[in-house]
Amino acid sequence: MTTNTQPEVNIGLVGHVDHGKTTLVQALSGEWTDQHSEEMKRGISIRLGYADATFRQCPEGEVPDAYTVEETCGDHDTETDVLRTVSFVDAPGHETLMATMLSGAAIMDGAVLVVSANEDVPQAQTEEHLMALDIIGIDNIVVAQNKIDLVDAEQARESYEQIQEFVEGTVAEDAPIVPISAGQGVNMDLLIDAVEREIPTPDRDPDADAEMLVARSFDINRPGTTWDSLLGGVLGGSLVRGELEADDEIQLRPGREVDEGGQTEWQPVETTVRSLQAGGDTVETATPGGLLGVGTGLDPSITKGDALAGQVAGPPGSLPPTHEQFTMDVDLLDRIVGENAGEVEEISTGEPLMMTIGTATTVGSVTSARGGEAEVALQRPVCAREGAKIAINRRLGGRWRLIGIGTLRE
Ligand code: GDP
Ligand code: MG
Repeated sequence: MTTNTQPEVNIGLVGHVDHGKTTLVQALSGEWTDQHSEEMKRGISIRLGYADATFRQCPEGEVPDAYTVEETCGDHDTETDVLRTVSFVDAPGHETLMATMLSGAAIMDGAVLVVSANEDVPQAQTEEHLMALDIIGIDNIVVAQNKIDLVDAEQARESYEQIQEFVEGTVAEDAPIVPISAGQGVNMDLLIDAVEREIPTPDRDPDADAEMLVARSFDINRPGTTWDSLLGGVLGGSLVRGELEADDEIQLRPGREVDEGGQTEWQPVETTVRSLQAGGDTVETATPGGLLGVGTGLDPSITKGDALAGQVAGPPGSLPPTHEQFTMDVDLLDRIVGENAGEVEEISTGEPLMMTIGTATTVGSVTSARGGEAEVALQRPVCAREGAKIAINRRLGGRWRLIGIGTLRE
């Protein structure tokens, strides 16, 4: 038993739009991830949303019945024991937002694929997201067959079989399929049980240099705040390794574009960690897993409006290099996933590509392409390590479609 409620693992929620990802996160965490007002308006998660859920167990009951997210057992008297806190990364299901889903994939330790029981399997993003998990290398997967309250037993069985057939030969082949109703909170104990088994907390090296992938950045000051009460810029993201503590010096890469006598160049930004927020609490030490909020000494105008999203933070001198162009080994898909599927044609010199590396998304133009490798010049540089996975998207029929995966070369 533990009382630590700092999240220790990131679990992606993926699947087709309206299949119930956000509802499931709400059922398990009591939080609604679509908080952004624009998201509310459009009814879709336009940015990654995070919500922490603490899995608990009733000390007297049998597993899996004893699993719950409630603080007390069914009798409302006995307190439940904390198993662990997980952080759900709620990816958008809308088809144009594949890039956002992929940038979330960089920080996912596992995923729950949500599939509606009342629609044919697979729908377009059910397939596209599973493919993305496959190429990014996320193989700790649980399939949640949702909305079973809307179907009869016969339909439920049929949908279950369709899911089994669909995952055959994919990374989710051996994933448990758990029938649930997120809307009615049915079978949440079975889902927790499956997640506990399939998505363990990864082993982390506490001595590694901290490396944080920045997914968001904010200015948290209200308009009209006077300079003497102005708070420094805030970074949101996830630690992929190491630990961060208050007063640590950090660097951000690529940093800022600065004008040096008519020439612009990207320079790393340095600052001090002033405060850390994890699992909804202020903490002294932040560890990998979950969304981390880092209060910094940065001028909030630098962090405003996600300006630093896609950057990497860590101790000065420890971060991967910044690339304005790079060469990657390319592994193309056989065909485009989803609706209007077609064959994937070779990458050609001069074509624009959109690439997701870590939490960064950048557009580049191909300067050279031949047999299995491509060289690209980027509009915005990225900070990434040799061997980093790159999701490669091509503009087709008015939107970016995933065409393959790249591996960064030095
Ligand atoms: P997302 O796009 O995958 O995040 O889907 P949402 O969580 O926003 O859900 C889409 C719609 O399906 C909403 O109207 C939900 O209320 C509804 N919904 C989600 N889960 C269930 C369920 O288990 N049963 C029923 N009947 N409706 C559900
Ligand atoms: Mg949603």
